[in-house]
Amino acid sequence: MRLIILTCLMFSGLLLAGCEKHISADMIFYNGKVVTVDGDFTIAEAIAVKDGKVLATGSTEQVMKAKSEVTKLVDLDGKTLLPGLIDSHQHTLSAAVSEFRYPIPVMKTVADVLAFVKERAAQTPEGGWVWVRTTYPTRLRDHRLPTGDELTAAAPEHKVVFAPFTISPFAVLSKSALAAAGIDKAFAAEHPDDIIVDEEGEPTGKIRHHTRYIEDIGTPDHTQTLDERTAMYRKMSGIYNSVGLTTVADRNTFPDVLAFYQSVADRGLATTRIGLFHALSTGKDVKDDDIKAEIHRIAALPVVNSHDPMVQVVGIKTFFDGGILSGSALFNEPWGKSHVHGITDPHYHGKSFISPERLRMMMAETISAGMQFTSHAVGDGAVLEVVKAYNDVNKTVPVKGSRSSVTHGNFTTPWAIDKMAELGIVADIQPAWFYLDSFALLKQFGDERLRYFQPLKTYFDKGIVVAGGSDHWSLEDPNNAVNPFNPFLAMWISHSRKARWVEKPVHPEQAITRQQALRMYTINAAFALNWDDIVGSLEAGKYADMVIIDRDILSCDIDDIKDTKVLETYLAGKRVYAR
Ligand SMILES: [Zn+2]
Repeated sequence: MRLIILTCLMFSGLLLAGCEKHISADMIFYNGKVVTVDGDFTIAEAIAVKDGKVLATGSTEQVMKAKSEVTKLVDLDGKTLLPGLIDSHQHTLSAAVSEFRYPIPVMKTVADVLAFVKERAAQTPEGGWVWVRTTYPTRLRDHRLPTGDELTAAAPEHKVVFAPFTISPFAVLSKSALAAAGIDKAFAAEHPDDIIVDEEGEPTGKIRHHTRYIEDIGTPDHTQTLDERTAMYRKMSGIYNSVGLTTVADRNTFPDVLAFYQSVADRGLATTRIGLFHALSTGKDVKDDDIKAEIHRIAALPVVNSHDPMVQVVGIKTFFDGGILSGSALFNEPWGKSHVHGITDPHYHGKSFISPERLRMMMAETISAGMQFTSHAVGDGAVLEVVKAYNDVNKTVPVKGSRSSVTHGNFTTPWAIDKMAELGIVADIQPAWFYLDSFALLKQFGDERLRYFQPLKTYFDKGIVVAGGSDHWSLEDPNNAVNPFNPFLAMWISHSRKARWVEKPVHPEQAITRQQALRMYTINAAFALNWDDIVGSLEAGKYADMVIIDRDILSCDIDDIKDTKVLETYLAGKRVYAR
């Protein structure tokens, strides 16, 4: 009998009619378009749920055979039901608490920045500091920094600092902020590399390496009480659920943050599953032996590959190069001059933070300890170095099968793509970057150099598993956060290759199909988190993580994909969101 029931389950309910014992579903969703995202991309009409898991999918008639008097029936009325969506790259807690101090508006122009400065000044005692973070000059329509004079005029009685992040190439200070830092004409003359002056030698407000001269406030703020933090995290998870996300991933988790995620899950308060990549300290003063010891400490944690369905650590993350926003991603070709990034050296290629030897050591230790390795690599020079390292490590430690990945892989080369395919390296890709940054990158590099900017079609054609992620680390608006995390926006970008403030699609030959875009945010992201056996598709035995949406994203007008509204979201058969 037991065997027969198992067989019934395994065949997605198609054999339910032949079961000797009737299995009663808790819920049946019928009369809809159930996009299973199974291997054949089967579209069903109905889905039955039992004990939080998928019991069967199939035609309404087939699935209704699991109905009993206790089964709750939900008429989908033709609507589309998808597997719960998965974001393979966030900094989840940082994002959740990013507005702990005060709300931060969406800023798209220099005028928006100045309005925010005024508003903050009105809330801050006279003479106090006003900081502008989490907004980037290359993402402003003006494509420039605010000037020191503009900041001074916006808040003459306050010390204003515009510094998107700690490693910003430039910060801009208002007059009072310059004075407070002791930066005047004489000081500027002594520090000509860092303090930018006008024709008279007066400081303009623009400075490099601002952390040498003023104390950076740092982000994120982690001074909340556990209750405050839990409430903010729960709120953020609710917003994720509202755009269809049921699983997320934090790709740089420190021990205290890991403990927090575990406590949320242990208290039964999580409404998203969370997969984690543990952070690693790799500063120049850290010894190789200490890094090895840390990798082995992490590998021994019970939460590593625990198969706990709510929280598990799957790998270790490091940072090889800088980024696009700070003008520090490592490229094979020089960056070229840039007024926004302050690049004047024609031979500047970007920055790398780890030696090739250390990278190989970390990879080999991590993979042989049974974990995934991943490295942040944004420029094609960084991706090349990381993939070369995988190739070398593979000679002694089998890389294939470890599901190790390149995080971002924004720019790449044909050689690196082929090697990734050969070694089974996963690509963790952020379509929202493509959407927001093509505008500035086209100005910086021109169209030809963007040929291998997120070459999604080539990745898919070569059989590379591409997982979709947002890199959400700040603010809470799904379409305007840093970075936007609405998966429907991301799927639309991947399918349309459209970019903000750019007239035509950017290298549209790299567009992927709607099915592929959906795979990025379901089964592929599940694969990247070692959870493809329990989520990522709607197949018998997997968790009933499901999203009901207001349109059919497989056939609607292309530009309507991004406006998709989620009507209901279910985690393990339990409704966690309803519009
Ligand atoms: Zn990130």
